[in-house]
Amino acid sequence: MKQILEIDLRNQQVTVQLRVINKWVTQVVSGACFYYSSDPSSHIICSIGGNVAENSENLHCLKDGVTTNHVVGLKFVISDGLVVDVGVTVPEMPGYELIYLLGLKGH
Ligand SMILES: Cc1cc2nc3c(=O)[nH]c(=O)nc-3n(C[C@H](O)[C@H](O)[C@H](O)COP(=O)(O)OP(=O)(O)OC[C@H]3O[C@@H](n4cnc5c(N)ncnc54)[C@H](O)[C@@H]3O)c2cc1C
Repeated sequence: MKQILEIDLRNQQVTVQLRVINKWVTQVVSGACFYYSSDPSSHIICSIGGNVAENSENLHCLKDGVTTNHVVGLKFVISDGLVVDVGVTVPEMPGYELIYLLGLKGH
């Protein structure tokens, strides 16, 4: 679960597996002058999955928002083994914000 699956610079979206280290996301897009702004101080060791679970934040969040503001879609497995997909690939899409209902800290 440590793979970066897709980099879509045009739409400023990266699809990752949950144990991808936060800093890796910035590393793969920095050549195109992008960075992943939701980077807690632990970004060299923490994972995107941990960031989502904790709704991590940092100084950039004052301007760019916390982790949940950057997550447009999630695929996860619940305790009975069911695989659930929520979200869309288009940010700010009308409709229910299901990602906020998943027990994330929210704001
Ligand atoms: C030196 C240091 C600096 C830090 N700075 C910040 C900061 O600036 N801002 C901030 O918000 N936090 C900070 N933290 C706290 C922590 O690093 C973050 O909350 C980070 O997002 C946790 O990610 P992790 O991969 O280390 O998760 P872990 O510590 O491994 O897990 C955290 C929680 O998330 C759950 N979890 C992890 N991965 C998954 C998954 N794939 N699916 C479901 N649940 C999962 C775990 O079960 C656990 O309950 C800091 C921590 C340290 C040690």
